[in-house]
This record gives sequence, structure tokens and C-alpha cells, in this order.
Amino acid sequence: MRLFSNAKRPVHLGPYPLERLPRADTAPATGTASLPPVQDSALAPSIAPYKQLFASLRDGEIAPLADPLTDDPVERANNLKAGIYFLDADQAGVGPVPDKAWIGSPLPGHCTAIVILVAHPPEPAAGEPGQEDLRQAAADIAALRAAEIAVITAGYVRQIGFAARAHVDGACDVDLLALALTCGLVTVEDGKPVAPHVGNGFQLAAVTTGFEAAHDRPLGPTAMATSRGASAFFGIGGTRPGWKRLDGRHRPLHLGRYPMEKIARRETPTTHISEHVPRMPKRASFFTRALHGDLGVKPKAERARFAIKTPSSFSYTPLIRAMVPLQTGETAQSQSPGSDNAAANADAMKALAHALGGDMIGICTIPDYAWYSHHDDGSEIAPYHRNAIVILIDQGFETMEGASGDDWISGAQSMRAYMRGAEIAGVIADHIRRKGWAARSHTNFDSDLLHIPLVLQAGLGELSRIGELVLNPFVGPRFKSVVVSTDMPLRPDKPIDFGLQDFCEKCNKCARECPCSAIPFGPKTMFNGYEIWKPDAEKCARYRVTNQKGSACGRCMKTCPFNAEGLMTERLALWASIRFPGLRGPLARLDDRLRRGAINPVKKWWFDLELVDGRAVAPKAGTNARSLDFSRKIDAENQKIAHYPFETAPPPGSTEPHPPDRKDGLRRAAEAAKPPGEE
Ligand code: SF4
Ligand code: SF4
Repeated sequence: MRLFSNAKRPVHLGPYPLERLPRADTAPATGTASLPPVQDSALAPSIAPYKQLFASLRDGEIAPLADPLTDDPVERANNLKAGIYFLDADQAGVGPVPDKAWIGSPLPGHCTAIVILVAHPPEPAAGEPGQEDLRQAAADIAALRAAEIAVITAGYVRQIGFAARAHVDGACDVDLLALALTCGLVTVEDGKPVAPHVGNGFQLAAVTTGFEAAHDRPLGPTAMATSRGASAFFGIGGTRPGWKRLDGRHRPLHLGRYPMEKIARRETPTTHISEHVPRMPKRASFFTRALHGDLGVKPKAERARFAIKTPSSFSYTPLIRAMVPLQTGETAQSQSPGSDNAAANADAMKALAHALGGDMIGICTIPDYAWYSHHDDGSEIAPYHRNAIVILIDQGFETMEGASGDDWISGAQSMRAYMRGAEIAGVIADHIRRKGWAARSHTNFDSDLLHIPLVLQAGLGELSRIGELVLNPFVGPRFKSVVVSTDMPLRPDKPIDFGLQDFCEKCNKCARECPCSAIPFGPKTMFNGYEIWKPDAEKCARYRVTNQKGSACGRCMKTCPFNAEGLMTERLALWASIRFPGLRGPLARLDDRLRRGAINPVKKWWFDLELVDGRAVAPKAGTNARSLDFSRKIDAENQKIAHYPFETAPPPGSTEPHPPDRKDGLRRAAEAAKPPGEE
């Protein structure tokens, strides 16, 4: 929570007011100062494979030069920094690469250094859950994150046509501290490197490149004193406040930043789930169906690239693909002493997931129907673990603000969250296996589990009108999930109730704003054993895959009142809606009147570029830059929504096209049963 709005703060300025710090012409001497070492910890063996993997991806092929591409060095620097802040770096700077900063031979033409600073995550206080797992691990976690950001940034720069190499912990050709001093991220105080607003608990990584961009200047002698002023403490201008209580950083790590413990819990979810929910084969997903040609030639051709057809989103894929083999592994022969305490394990795993960058964590027993029935090749899946740790990754507050939801950043928003989720869940699963309990992570690239029922059962949200999307009271629908399944004993959480069923009854903004009318204006029905506002999954998948004026789609997320800058993200409005049901309708209408969900141009930082035959070019069809559509007629009676339940799915493992029977789907939707109690 901020005391001051950051709606007018461009993304490239970052969370801290670095632009207000005094600058100098020369960098302070390093002297004997050196970066704090990455220490050994209980988590280090699980982090190490990921660091090695990222280091192996720090260089690569250079794509042809993007066209168009700005020559303005300031615009270039702003684009690079905003991309780094999108990846949650704490600070970013751009500077020259002084000769003396090279360790060994300089890379020819690498004239620019992009420096990334990641603060150490908080460690649990003495006696708090997770302390044993996380003791001395903060530097390693920050180094892992810095490496991830540097490797993706280098990949992006190569994708727009310039040489770029990442320099990370364990694979580095430059003096990172010298670069950070030169570009004004760090200074030296009492012989130690220190960063304004962050202190001395941070790690660095860098990218050197031939991409010329405007340089930041070194910090002036009074920079640290300025950073300790009242304006930074209270977050004037919408910066991250130094007052930790404001954004939940004072809370015990296992509880996370958001007060989920204040939301009412129930024994069962707020939507009915019958006793006989059929298990689905992976082949039934409409994205898989598009891949096999079920939706026709064009969706089949576009399926492989729709979410990664921009330089930005494409730069995540090497990491995401390379992490898949790490999702499974050998379990240690013997169990660690004390690792059979379900309550202690649950809190420790939550602390661990928060430290690694998860935004919200819940735990549940895995219902049978959450397991896919068959793999892609048609082989059966037998449920193999009891418990699930469900982790939500926020898709990024500020970037969503600058987007329409279906423009050229939409795919990158998804890929960023998928990448981060794979990293967090992979480290956790490995750590659990080292404690002697079987565990596997389930990511968007490779999952044996349907995530939606788990997000629901783990008490992280309620089913919303968007349909196949669970909505969280604090981050709304703006998240991706990742799951760790395990046999480790874990105390489950209970489902939550924050009045969303009634709120969505009184609001239909997502349905009105969906570009292809895939979200129903009408009431919930029963579908595959669930009480749900059933969206038209075929229409949605078709639009996302073939969107020509953007990459993928998340417009329903963007425009929901519970999303970033939506009214319901104001805590007062959220609590009012929970306590006073009569206010829900007026709050939904007020959100619209305040034009929440429209594009904030201040927050648009990315270049509209599309990869065509390996080159980034101006998108031929243009860009979706739609605003809110108040004129759209809401007509539940005549809306064409089709249902494709379990019995209409293609046979598991089939590779032949099985086009959906749309006429039958429309009939099934029209005849769908009402939820119990409403028949
Ligand atoms: Fe509609 Fe896009 Fe949401 Fe699909 S993702 S339901 S197309 S707004
Ligand atoms: Fe519910 Fe309104 Fe959000 Fe749709 S936009 S999910 S109806 S609150």
C-alpha cells in the first residue's frame, strides 16, 4: 500500500526516487570495498542448478536489427530500465564500461553496461517459521534473481539486433562493483559498498552490450543522506516507502505481504463442486486443441508463437524451456529429522516461497479431479502426491496499468510470471526432495495438475465471472499460478469467502470488455461438476492465439475492479464490500465511472514490435489500444456462448484434428443445468 499514488510515475524511474539523488562527475574510488559474499546455506544446493542454468544462457545468437528502433539514447535507456523493473529489480542503471572494469579481455564493441541491483529478501526473525531453511540464504536468492534478470535482458537486447552478454554470480567478465559505482547505483560508505534506499544487503548482475543508451551519472557525496530523508520514508511521489509497515514488509515472512488471514474461511469453496467431477486429458485444453488443428489452419500456425512473438516475451523462453528437466528429481533416501510436522512444514514452505518471490501461497490436499487423466501421448496419469503448495505470481501492477490487456506486452506479462513461477517452484521442490520427501513442480510448460481447483481449495481466491479464473481479494485476477505437489506432510488451508459471488452478480465489466464476448453476461450454470460462470473457451482460445494487434490477451484481468488501480484494490473499498453487501453494486459502478481499467499512457514503456521471421518489426495490423467500452449492449439472452464438456473432448493422445461441434456446444450451453438450489 502506498500513501501517495504512483499513477504519474513512469515505470523506468523504478520503485525508489533515484532521480532525486545528487550526482557527480566521477565515481567514488572502490578502495578496499567489495560486494558481500554469497554464503553457504541450507537452500544453496537447490539454488545452484538454477544459477548454473541461467549462467549457461548468458550469451547467444544475435537477431537481425529491429526496424523500427529509436536512435534516441534516452528512450533506449528508459526501455531497458523499465524492462528490468518489470522483472522486479530494485534498482537499475546504465553506464559506460570503463577499461579497468573488464576482468580479462574486453568484449569488442561492448560500450554500454546495464547494471541490475536486487535487494536481499527479508529473513525470518529468530524463532519464526522458515528460519532454518533460509538462514544465510538471502544473498544467494538475490544473486539468483539478479542472474535471471540479466540473462533475460541480454536475450532481449540480442533479439532487437545487438550483441549482449550477461555477467552473473559465477560467470562474470566484469567488475560488477566498479560498473555499479560508475552508473550511480552504489557508493562507498565506511569502506563498504552501499546503495541508497537499500543499504548494503544487495547483489548485482550486469549486461554489457553494443546497444548505445544514455548513461546515468555516479552518485554525489550526499546521496546517502538524501536517501534517508522524510520524502523517501513516506514515499512522496508514489515511490516505495521506506516505512516498511505500509507495504506489509514488517509482517512475519510466512504470512506474506497481504493480510489473507483476515479473510473469512469456510470448509468448502463458495461455488458448488459435485462429488463426480470428471478428470480431463491434457488433450482437452483448447490451447492443445489449437496445436493439433482442431480450431483450423490459422490457429494451428499461430499457436506456437502467439505468446512469444515479441522480442520481450521471446527472451523468457530459453529459461522456461531449460527449467523443465529440473521439475523432477531423485528424493533423498532418508527424511530430515523433524520434517514430518505438517504445521511447521506448511509455515516454513510459505516463508520459503515468499523469500523466493512468490506473492501469495496456499496449501491444500489434492482432489483426484485436479489430476489430468492422460498425458499428451495418451498414457494414463495415476495421482502420485497428496499435497499441493500453490504459489501465485503477480503479473505486474504497473505494466498492466499501461496496457489494454490485449496489446504487445500481454504475452510478456504471462511469460514473465510463468518463468518466475518455474524458478520458485523448482527450487522449493528440489529443497523438499533433499529433505527426503517426493516433490515435483508443475509449471505452464509441464504440469500433471489443473491449477484452478487447487488455487480454489488452497484458499487463494473464489471463482469469478471470468469463469476459469479464481480471483484473489488483494491481487484480483492478475496472477499466474505454479504448483509443487509433494508427499511431505503439510497443514492445508481452507477456502475463502470475500463475497465475490455476489459482487460478480452485480458487476459484468469483464464480460462487457472481453473483445470476443467469451464471458457470459448471464448466470452461473453447472459444467463438468462445477458451479461456474462458464466462458466460451473456444472463442477465448481462438482470440488469444490469433490476435493480430497484440500478443495473447488478458483484457478481462486488466479491466476487473479488483485489478491494479481498480477500485477494489483500495483496502477501504475491499473491506466495505466484504462487510456491507449492499455496497457491492455501487462500488462496481463507481469503478467504471472513475474509468478504472482504462490505459494509463504514463505506464507504457515497451516498444510495439512483432517478431516476423526472426526479426522485430512494426506490427503490420497495428496495436490494440482500446479504452473502456461503456456503449456495449449487455444482452444475456442473445449472447452466443458454447459449452464443450468432458464428453465432447477429443480422445486422449489423438494427434488428428477434432474440430469442436459449435452448434452442439451452443445447444449444451442453452440447456446447461442450474446450480443446486436454483433449479
Ligand atoms: Fe476474453 Fe481475453 Fe479474457 Fe479470453 S482472455 S475471456 S478473450 S478478455
Ligand atoms: Fe467479477 Fe466484475 Fe471482476 Fe468480472 S470484472 S470478475 S464480474 S468483479
